Amino acid sequence: MSDTLPPLREVIREFDLRAKKSFGQNFLLDLNLTRKIARVAGDLSDSIVYEVGPGPGGLTRGLLAEGAKRVVAVEMDARCLPALAQVSLAYDARLSVFQGDALEVNETELLAPQGGEKLRIVSNLPYNVGTLLLIKWLTLEDWKPWFSSLTLMFQREVAERIVAKPGSKAYGRLSVLAQWRGKVKIAVNVPAAAFTPPPKVASAVIHYEPCAPMDAAVKQKDLELVVERAFGQRRKMLRASLKSLPVNALDLLAEAGIRETSRAEDLSVEEFVRLARVYGKTRS
Ligand code: SAM
Repeated sequence: MSDTLPPLREVIREFDLRAKKSFGQNFLLDLNLTRKIARVAGDLSDSIVYEVGPGPGGLTRGLLAEGAKRVVAVEMDARCLPALAQVSLAYDARLSVFQGDALEVNETELLAPQGGEKLRIVSNLPYNVGTLLLIKWLTLEDWKPWFSSLTLMFQREVAERIVAKPGSKAYGRLSVLAQWRGKVKIAVNVPAAAFTPPPKVASAVIHYEPCAPMDAAVKQKDLELVVERAFGQRRKMLRASLKSLPVNALDLLAEAGIRETSRAEDLSVEEFVRLARVYGKTRS
């Protein structure tokens, strides 16, 4: 069922929501596309969806039309709030909107689940803070993540980095952080022309579901440090790039069973996890 709200082009005109670069605004106006993205997230009927940056409400309407039990959204741009109030009215107040910066939000306080609902994040992320938000959600130290899934639009190049496998140019820090305790795939490719205004590059929606870590004894912060140092100098051999760690790099590599001449981009996610485990043990 579609809603009875005006087309998004009209909403943008009525509320004067010309896209601002400073807010990373590129809007989706095709409700068939936004419903398709909402369906990637799965059955929403028992889910509270957290949406960052609803803007004029294209994806929000897709989520509500696809049956989300509730949508809780955080939008930085106050100009969008009246348009979003209309959406909430049309959908029996299943939408709540807060004005603010998603980087500062304590999501579990904001979403306040009443019991049993799944919490999912679905968002067409502002490109200027998209990666920072993803890192915020992926690097929780205590891995009982509050969300059941992430369905997120990124620039295609960032999406490729998240799902990349070893040996490819795109493989790096984001790939390891996303894959060591989660399953992730590219679910929808979205051409630049689907946005108003069209950005310079294509985009893609990734779908991520958390799972048990490859090694539950590994601390997130140890893995982050090892990965950051290794990819900080990705062309160098690990015996050189890991030198800046406060342990003996050669001993670390030997104990983890990794050749000192390997380069960061050749190491599997499992091998990074092993390195982090040995590093953590050496430091404790
Ligand atoms: N969801 C809408 C759509 O799909 O058409 C808009 C997506 S647009 C790429 C990103 C949205 O995030 C904009 O509405 C922008 O104002 C908002 N935004 C930018 N930075 C933000 C932040 N730090 N916290 C919350 N919202 C932000």
